[in-house]
Amino acid sequence: MFHVKRDSLDADVIVVGGGHAGLEAAHAAARLGATTLLITHRLDRIGEMSCNPAIGGLGKGHLVREIDAFDGLMGRLADASAIQYRLLNRRKGPAVQGPRTQADRGLYRLAAQSAARKLRSLGLLEAEVTDLAIDGGAVAGVVLSDGRTLKTNCIVLTTGTFLGGVIHIGDAKKPGGRFGDGPAQRLAERLRGLGLPIGRLKTGTPPRLDGKTIDWSRVERQPADDDPVFFSFLTEKVQARQITCGITRTTEDTHAIIRENLERSALYGGHMDGRGPRYCPSIEDKVVRFSEKQSHQIFLEPEGLTTDVVYPNGISTSLPAEVQASYVKTIPGLEAAQILQHGYAIAYDYVDPRALRASLELKSLSGLYLAGQINGTTGYEEAAAQGLLAGLNAALTALGRPALTLSRTQSYIGVMIDDLITRGVTEPYRMFTSRAEYRLHLRADNADQRLTPLATELGCVGQIRKEAFARKNTALKTGRKKLEALHLSAKTARMHDIPVGRDGQTRNAAELLSIPGVHFERLLPIWPELRGVEPEIQQQLAFDATYAVYLQRQKDEVRKLQRDEALQIPSGMKYNAISGLSNELVEKLDRVQPETLGQAGRIEGMTPAALAVLLIAVKRRRIAAAG
Ligand code: FAD
Repeated sequence: MFHVKRDSLDADVIVVGGGHAGLEAAHAAARLGATTLLITHRLDRIGEMSCNPAIGGLGKGHLVREIDAFDGLMGRLADASAIQYRLLNRRKGPAVQGPRTQADRGLYRLAAQSAARKLRSLGLLEAEVTDLAIDGGAVAGVVLSDGRTLKTNCIVLTTGTFLGGVIHIGDAKKPGGRFGDGPAQRLAERLRGLGLPIGRLKTGTPPRLDGKTIDWSRVERQPADDDPVFFSFLTEKVQARQITCGITRTTEDTHAIIRENLERSALYGGHMDGRGPRYCPSIEDKVVRFSEKQSHQIFLEPEGLTTDVVYPNGISTSLPAEVQASYVKTIPGLEAAQILQHGYAIAYDYVDPRALRASLELKSLSGLYLAGQINGTTGYEEAAAQGLLAGLNAALTALGRPALTLSRTQSYIGVMIDDLITRGVTEPYRMFTSRAEYRLHLRADNADQRLTPLATELGCVGQIRKEAFARKNTALKTGRKKLEALHLSAKTARMHDIPVGRDGQTRNAAELLSIPGVHFERLLPIWPELRGVEPEIQQQLAFDATYAVYLQRQKDEVRKLQRDEALQIPSGMKYNAISGLSNELVEKLDRVQPETLGQAGRIEGMTPAALAVLLIAVKRRRIAAAG
């Protein structure tokens, strides 16, 4: 049983769901000091990776680093279970590089469950939540399937793909939250009954193969990176054996079988409702949309160190079982491959995230926070990042403290939440670096510098991280000072083959590092005293130097933007009384109810002229209210 009662409540915060959003939410709430209860269908599936056994990637890796900067779990769990580290976009600039690990599914789950059991203020309960208790426009508790009500004023719902979930393989379908788990049907009906704006989305997963039946000699091999880039700022070494993956490709024969059977695909043949992810297309989708391509790449990713299950990344499908079996055999290396579990698609309910505040609390129901797939996103990282923010905010409310919001200029988490609550989703939302306009500043390598001070002030950072962060900060400051104190004339720099103009200028070492192609190693023979700077600090100093000029420009822009962006729009603003706004914009503003001018600016169709009109109206209204 759980041990989190306080006063007349069963818990300050109740989190429903033990997926990636739920775990991160519960852990964050408990770290802040709220008594927290996590309720989920099965405790042994806390931290389950429903689809691909991997964490991170482009944009997603940034989210994991930001979660880690708040002392969250995902980065540490990913490092504890990493069986292949790869830094994506290694040859490109650090702003768009994406740390990624392939995970041992079992080790990830184990690490997640052990982390969930470590915090004294976090209780775990295996049960199904079927209803919410509501009292006067605010939540008052959750109702379990056995009829018990547990009282709380703050709930975080993280129901993932389970809410009204229906699993499809070909034209066969059955209710389910994911393979092997039932759906959350009664809660789905209840949420619809509450009048929330609910829609349907869908996604799919590939068949799982028996690695013993793959001919590995016929596929290309992809090893792990020699110099792994860890997720957590606290990780110092590789924790599990690193493995090699395989790469193969679909063939013309594969495509022919898929084309012949398109009508039988659940995702493609119109057998299911909801919109699917454009960025994680099924193999049916790829064959149709890119009909000029003769083959598509497939990564063969072992799911762990002690299992033979292999995840063929790239052939997500919802074709009937026998069609999957026949097309898999047309792929080099998979001619004799046995399918252990067929690919399937799932359709589920989500809540239009425009119904949320920036704190992830529902506008229409106080105390109810939503995070993860329920908000229309896809992916573990997107879910965990929302979980972190929703959990922190639920705890802050419970403890009588003001809400935390993150801006687009501060973090990828802020970018994602702003996108969701102002634009909504038309398909499952996933993170990309291109979504962040300030990506030169919002790098994965500096997530701790951007966010750990804020998290520490908030009170969700443990002692170990506080000390590690302070040590790194001191090292960075010392390193920066050293670089600024070392100078070379243009002539001497050229003698060392550093490409500077014949301008007679003296440059310090930081300025030299900002020159394309000049790396830290080039400076070491000139100034041996720099050898004392740790490699991790060298790298961060070099990245900072590379972007110094752009960053200054971006910082000025950010400051200006933050000033107007943060301007609060008074509630009850009458948009139809503002002349100069089109009817369409008035309707959108009424629907979105933006809390700040920044949010209003990102409403689809908002023009600079209309925003200027709105800015004046908001300022007038504020002056009138103050006078
Ligand atoms: P989940 O991980 O789904 O966790 C939900 C949790 O809530 C579960 O623990 C469940 O037991 C619990 N729960 C739900 N309702 C209740 C209730 N009423 N009472 C108690 N407990 C409850 N992601 C990608 O990035 N790309 C993909 O291509 C992709 N394909 C996918 C394909 C399939 C078939 C599935 C199932 C998932 C796929 N995913 C994909 C999505 C990925 O799994 C999710 O994005 C991620 O797991 C979402 O995390 P979450 O915490 O929101 O929900």
